Amino acid sequence: MSTPSEPEQVRLRAALDALPAYVPGRPAVTKPGQTAYKVSSNENPYPPLERVRAVIAEAAGNVNRYPDLAVTALTAAIAAHVGVEPAHIATGNGSVAVLAHLITAMCDPGDEVVYAWRSFEAYPIVVALAGASSVQVGLDADDRHRLDAMAAAVTERTKVAIVCSPNNPTGTTVHRRELERFLDAVPAHVLVVLDEAYVEFVADVDAPEAISVWRERPNVMVLRTFSKAYGLAGLRVGYAVAHERMARALRSTATPFGVSSVAQAAGIASLAAFDELQERVEALVAERARVAMALEEQGWKLPVSQANFVWFPLGVDSSDFNRACQEAGLVVRQYGDDGVRVTIAEVEANDRLIEVAQAFGPR
Ligand code: PMP
Repeated sequence: MSTPSEPEQVRLRAALDALPAYVPGRPAVTKPGQTAYKVSSNENPYPPLERVRAVIAEAAGNVNRYPDLAVTALTAAIAAHVGVEPAHIATGNGSVAVLAHLITAMCDPGDEVVYAWRSFEAYPIVVALAGASSVQVGLDADDRHRLDAMAAAVTERTKVAIVCSPNNPTGTTVHRRELERFLDAVPAHVLVVLDEAYVEFVADVDAPEAISVWRERPNVMVLRTFSKAYGLAGLRVGYAVAHERMARALRSTATPFGVSSVAQAAGIASLAAFDELQERVEALVAERARVAMALEEQGWKLPVSQANFVWFPLGVDSSDFNRACQEAGLVVRQYGDDGVRVTIAEVEANDRLIEVAQAFGPR
């Protein structure tokens, strides 16, 4: 069979040439006699609650119909949960989509988006897709945001600044006072996004209360997701808490019917089951503390993680650590020569991480 010829006359945008690839976590590869664990995507190891699964099954019976375009019931449930008005909520198929809607709403080619680096790898992609420019500000020696340097990096062309807290992949949070100082320094025309994909796992008392910050600041928006604490990564639903004009802009740039009817129903059911899901989050936070303590006792000096993962800033040793994890049946996420990120997951997976770290030798 002949292959159709490449459509070389078709004019793709040049922005695509420079696009970094989004690397998804690889699936676990099982060896005989060894259970493998996928600890590369910060997913929730718990399967959906029975009640949530029943709602998903029921919603599946209606997928011949389009979902509610306005996402009315889920928006109302999120608004009640967060303590804001429904007009302040904009949803999308994953918070990464909401971020893309935001960049589309705000950035023309040549505009700048400031964020820390390393941080969530989707940031450079959504920025480049809009034809905008990324201004990446390196993390400090403790793998934390340098908010003063980020404020200093803002120019006339800056439209958006993203603060990822806890930061993916390092797990570090920004603190209330430094965030307030940053917000005081940033001009009012710059929208500051607080990406809180992992907020439910935060135990740090100095972490900001993002919704209160949002209430006081017209140029702040908060991004959250059902993918992590709520265990709905496969259904793709996230949201922004935004002031009305911004929320409207996010709705107007969103893919129509982007949040499926199954995802809407599952989101509502998960908010209704919040207490039960919270117990799972608490169990994961306790596991994170157990792993952190064990690694510390081994002599590791790692950043304190407030998320559902641990960051090993191993530099050139990252590949060796990745291989050691793989050998032990742990599929982890390596970021070049920066480090390796490992999700806190099943107790058995966490035990295995502790063993691998011990054998590898603390750094
Ligand atoms: N923000 C951060 C910091 C993340 O780590 C992730 C998921 N990896 C997201 C946003 C996007 O999550 P989702 O699109 O699944 O809501």
